[in-house]
Amino acid sequence: SKPIVAIVGRPNVGKSTLFNALAGEKISIVEDYPGVTRDRIYADVTWLNYQFTMIDTGGIEPESKDMMISYMRKQAEIAIETADVIIFLVDVRQGLVDSDYKVADMLRKSHKPVVLAVNKVDNFDKFMADVYEFYNLGMGDPMPISSASRLGIGDLLDEVVKHT
Ligand code: GDP
Ligand code: MG
Repeated sequence: SKPIVAIVGRPNVGKSTLFNALAGEKISIVEDYPGVTRDRIYADVTWLNYQFTMIDTGGIEPESKDMMISYMRKQAEIAIETADVIIFLVDVRQGLVDSDYKVADMLRKSHKPVVLAVNKVDNFDKFMADVYEFYNLGMGDPMPISSASRLGIGDLLDEVVKHT
């Protein structure tokens, strides 16, 4: 069966936007899963000659800030249990926050390959300086992307498929 790539990240970092960009017309969808489960959404993606199943783990958003940690833990658990590669998505506009470190710790302990993508870098000249702080997560090179403008998406997928 195909490798599984899971997207993990705080609410509002752009997981669903990235997922939809990858599952969209420009990359062919081989098969859509009939059920959108309550806590994860699947799509089959083809990139070059690679095929993988992508999961948006952010199905149910937390109802309050108090639920954030359990929400992030649940996402990380789904990704760690099911994925071959994890895309850890963060937001250059919000910057690095405490829960990003917590997620990084959970993912690191899993020893799964993690690709760190910094979303909302809509303008590489303007926001690139802000990308570097994400090196502090200790998850390797942060890859700048804009899911909304589709910038950096090809480079991200090139990196992802290296680990499949
Ligand atoms: P999720 O909660 O992680 O699934 O995030 P969403 O995909 O729902 O996106 C949250 C908000 O961020 C929405 O208003 C999106 O339009 C916006 N967003 C997502 N990607 C980008 C991006 O690349 N650039 C900008 N400027 N906004 C984005
Ligand atoms: Mg979402």
